[in-house]
Amino acid sequence: MTIFQNLLTPEFKQLYNDAIDAIIDPANGLVNTCILKYGGSATQQTVCNNCLYDTISRLSSNMYNGTGPKPFSDGGICPVCLGSGSITRNSVIKEEKVNLAIIMDNKYFFNVANALNLNSNHIQILCKVELLPKLQNAVELIVHDLAYQQAGEPQYCGLSQHKYAFMLWRVK
Ligand SMILES: [Zn+2]
Repeated sequence: MTIFQNLLTPEFKQLYNDAIDAIIDPANGLVNTCILKYGGSATQQTVCNNCLYDTISRLSSNMYNGTGPKPFSDGGICPVCLGSGSITRNSVIKEEKVNLAIIMDNKYFFNVANALNLNSNHIQILCKVELLPKLQNAVELIVHDLAYQQAGEPQYCGLSQHKYAFMLWRVK
């Protein structure tokens, strides 16, 4: 057994975890309320809300559906879908507020292997591992009104317990 292993007592581990807990405590100055966005800006096709849809031709049946915003006469061209029977709209981007400890200055990043590739566009996030799936699913992270994208795999930390993770993001 090395001296270092002797140091890793349950008390020491608790101290370490307490220290990180303090860093990611929402009351602490390092913690920012950020917005995670999921699902990107994909578009989706939906049936036109103004005309009757013809399921055989997969086009507008050229008849007003009685409830849409722009009535037109039977046999005419639907003014909403222009006869295509469907409309394209942006899918709703889901978003969620999360509290993350953020290190903005790369001089203070933890555990970074190739620090030479880092610049002021990078930030490092420290969070509990429970939050990682959300971070990894997100297509965008908004911090101080700037949009960031993931810049690498998370690195686990927390001595032997993997309670926490660091993750790099860079400006989109
Ligand atoms: Zn239509």
